[in-house]
Amino acid sequence: MKDGHTQGRCLCGEVRYEATGPTGEMWYCHCPGCRKASGVGFGTWIEAADLRWLSGRDCVTQFAASPGITRAFCSQCGTVLPARRAAGGVLLPAGGLENVGGQRPCGHASAEARLPWLPPLDADLPVRRVSCADETSSGASQEAVAEGLARGGCLCGAIAYEVKQPLAAMRVCHCSRCRRRSGSSWFVGLTCAPGTLRFLRGEAGIVRWHMPGTRFYVVSFCGTCGSAAPAVLPRATFFSAGCLDNDPGARALCHIYYGSRAPWVEVRDSLPRFGEFAPPDFNWQASRP
Ligand SMILES: [Zn+2]
Ligand SMILES: [Zn+2]
Ligand SMILES: [Zn+2]
Repeated sequence: MKDGHTQGRCLCGEVRYEATGPTGEMWYCHCPGCRKASGVGFGTWIEAADLRWLSGRDCVTQFAASPGITRAFCSQCGTVLPARRAAGGVLLPAGGLENVGGQRPCGHASAEARLPWLPPLDADLPVRRVSCADETSSGASQEAVAEGLARGGCLCGAIAYEVKQPLAAMRVCHCSRCRRRSGSSWFVGLTCAPGTLRFLRGEAGIVRWHMPGTRFYVVSFCGTCGSAAPAVLPRATFFSAGCLDNDPGARALCHIYYGSRAPWVEVRDSLPRFGEFAPPDFNWQASRP
């Protein structure tokens, strides 16, 4: 436990906040809400008694995803912001914090809802009985999807899409931008071939934010719930793996920007790890390593 002054901010810099009082445990949550809000398949939270918004209050958009928790995100850049629990206390998104120190996650909430095709994560940690919403964990409900398709969508249900399998180029990105946006430990992205994505609904509800000073860094998210959404760019379409509801037919191929990884991350898989982006000769076409 650490005394106060734990601060965080969103990726665009508008929203800044500070925990008031001591912070508590850090843990992962794999519930469907955390899976989609983060876009990476799980939330990485640090408990705190309360918080104070230091700036950007106008950009804080709240979404009451379930009776137990009110989530929040930056309306400008889509960054996951602290969530408020109905039972009291707040959850700080670890990826958005400036000063986590040497703290490490202590367990997995909603562990049974974990998506088996996502990269492994601290398998040795114990299961926590209670999830982010102060609910006893329940398994993810997954709709049946036609053969050869993967379906995805946002937490509020406004956005839904289908894409032909296999998707490609799944990688774990540890860069500080992706981490801050997801509020979690890393980002898991993948791409689809041109013309293979079909929106079922809600494309008009997608907000896009192009990070100033970068050529290609675009965040796409649902304007209602903040969940990551597909980014349809001229060169390719990018997905957040945590927003897909069934197996995309691809597995992670490598870790990129591993040199920027979060201080609590301990990767134990055997995938290649690159300090920055993958080298030019890296084979992104493989769908399964
Ligand atoms: Zn922002
Ligand atoms: Zn959760
Ligand atoms: Zn939504």
